[in-house]
Amino acid sequence: MNDKNEMLLEFESKSQNESFARTVVAAFATQLDPTIEELADIKTAVSEAVTNSIIHGYADCLGTIKLHCIITGNELMVEVIDEGAGIDNIEKAMEPLYTTRPELERSGMGFSFMEAFMDELVVDSIVGKGTIVKMKKKVGKAERSKGCAQETNQKVV
Ligand code: ATP
Ligand code: MG
Repeated sequence: MNDKNEMLLEFESKSQNESFARTVVAAFATQLDPTIEELADIKTAVSEAVTNSIIHGYADCLGTIKLHCIITGNELMVEVIDEGAGIDNIEKAMEPLYTTRPELERSGMGFSFMEAFMDELVVDSIVGKGTIVKMKKKVGKAERSKGCAQETNQKVV
């Protein structure tokens, strides 16, 4: 059975592309038969990562953002990749309420949302080279029937 599917998209770091990016990922994830809530979680996480690339990665310039998604079985992997400023201290950047742009009224919660709404979050960054945010989430029917089986004590085969 062919249960792998992959897509790669490149777009400019313009704020109007943030909603475009999250809609594209939601459309790609539709094949996993997600719930409305799962789709909302994915869209929020993608929005946060893409917004970060636009306002932090490419703060003073226009650049290219890559959106790479792979579906494997019932798992969605999303990578948001920029070649912008990079992050000096990733651990610190991922702390809730930490922001380097308080003057823009950022709240420092983007990474916390990505962590909360996805199953896995890995951030890789090099100052002056760019940032890769990799997120994974199990989505859809198989996940829900697993939950069901646990509740009813049945086996999923
Ligand atoms: P909020 O997301 O709540 O509006 P924020 O963007 O500052 O605020 P986070 O998304 O958690 O908060 O990011 C924390 C910090 O990590 C940012 O303030 C920024 O310094 C750094 N950062 C995040 N993503 C990138 C990126 N792609 N390139 C460079 N720096 C980044
Ligand atoms: Mg942010």
